[in-house]
Amino acid sequence: MSRKLKNKIWISPPDIGDKEQQYVKDCFDSNWISTAGPQITFFEKELSLLSDNYSVAALSSGTAAIHLALILLGVQKDDEVICSTFTFSASANPIIYQGAKPIFIDSELDTWNMCPELLEEAIIDRLNQGKKPKAIILVYIYGMPAKINEISMIAKKYDIPIIEDAAEALGSKYLNKQLGSFFDFGIYSFNGNKIITSSGGGALISKNHKLIEKAKFLATQAKDDVPYYQHSEIGYNYRLSNVCAAIGRGQLDTLKDKVVKRRSIFNYYKDNLSCISDIEFLEERNPAYSNRWLTTIIINDSNKIDPEIIRLHLVKHNIESRRLWKPMHTQPVFKEFQFYGGDTSESLFKKGLCLPSGSSLSNNQLDYIINVIKELYEA
Ligand SMILES: *Cc1c(COP(=O)(O)O)cnc(C)c1O
Repeated sequence: MSRKLKNKIWISPPDIGDKEQQYVKDCFDSNWISTAGPQITFFEKELSLLSDNYSVAALSSGTAAIHLALILLGVQKDDEVICSTFTFSASANPIIYQGAKPIFIDSELDTWNMCPELLEEAIIDRLNQGKKPKAIILVYIYGMPAKINEISMIAKKYDIPIIEDAAEALGSKYLNKQLGSFFDFGIYSFNGNKIITSSGGGALISKNHKLIEKAKFLATQAKDDVPYYQHSEIGYNYRLSNVCAAIGRGQLDTLKDKVVKRRSIFNYYKDNLSCISDIEFLEERNPAYSNRWLTTIIINDSNKIDPEIIRLHLVKHNIESRRLWKPMHTQPVFKEFQFYGGDTSESLFKKGLCLPSGSSLSNNQLDYIINVIKELYEA
């Protein structure tokens, strides 16, 4: 029986260093505490360096970034927007905020992301129905790059803009280029459990500087440029605070190390759990480079051990794990919307589990988790 560890092991807790406190102290010392200030400007500049100088708007969340991208692409009531089904609900919710309709696309098994064949099938079918989709929300789930080449060709062929939901994929690359910087818009999230956090926050990026300026305008209540409060458009309160930007900046300084650490955690699990023939890992295929935000396993239950049994066993040992995302087309809230695909993402949901992957995990903790899982198979 493995020795019990005192503290709960979380799936992906914040991993904060000293710089964050220094930058936050700068905010207090200079009285820049709200939604304007130098930390926001620095944070945006430093994020843009990651992505070939794309323009960046720092926002209050990744969800807000997706919402603004849809608005900037002119998505309106009853428009159709294509979206990966295998994702967190925040990818799809902003489609509903606009009164538009999500069209969900199933995954392929090589990357778990949107299947290019199904994407094209859906577009052709929608065109046949007389409705051209207004945008595609392409999610990089668990940090894994999608089949970007194939998807790019389809989007070009039918002339449909793409929003890259790279909320989980900051630091991931494809052809050595940062995810989020391939198409019309990219979004990041700095929520508490993401690879870096600003306590809460997100960013919208684009190579179109004017659209990013427009995003900042909309994110600060769309005030007209006159010396009193006049509004010609509906605005939003979506800007990131200077204090949160300070935390995000400190975190961004360590992004490279955090990616290296998460990748080494993935490799450690793989090296030590592959001896269990029922457990499989998702491989990275050239030219994809994943930040391995969360290590995920697929469990074939020839031993009658399913993901829920493992999850509950881990809970007993004070270890948090999570089931894979439940596909959007199977969510009660989205059940009325169109779906193209089969049972790929549903079967991932049924068979998969996310293991603790935080960059502050110690080797002791990793060994402990691995032993707790092995115990189940040795019983
Ligand atoms: C976290 C997440 C979001 C939303 O980001 P928030 O900053 O929490 O609003 C969107 N899409 C995916 C895939 C996510 O994992």
